Amino acid sequence: MAEYGGNPFFSCRSCKNPLALHEDLLSKKYWAKSGAAAYMFSHAMNVIVGQKEDRKLITGVFSVADIYCSNCGQELGWKYVQAYDPRQMHKEGKFIIERAKILKEY
Ligand SMILES: [Zn+2]
Repeated sequence: MAEYGGNPFFSCRSCKNPLALHEDLLSKKYWAKSGAAAYMFSHAMNVIVGQKEDRKLITGVFSVADIYCSNCGQELGWKYVQAYDPRQMHKEGKFIIERAKILKEY
């Protein structure tokens, strides 16, 4: 994909609230609860982090918190708060956002 000056970023598909910088995109190989494609980011902005809870995911049990757009309240994905498996600890603090919920902008 071409990049037109500035730093490309991803915004909320519903309200255009900027949510994450393209340079913070770590992986496109994630899947949301529904099976939808999702991206992993090292950092997200303008999101509300919900209450953390333990959740069983494909790669094990994690403490996660759902994240929402701070402007329109759209549920976007989740944040890995804590990994119980030491081999998954690199995911701690990372954000998973469903691809269908965001738009790439320049
Ligand atoms: Zn929004």
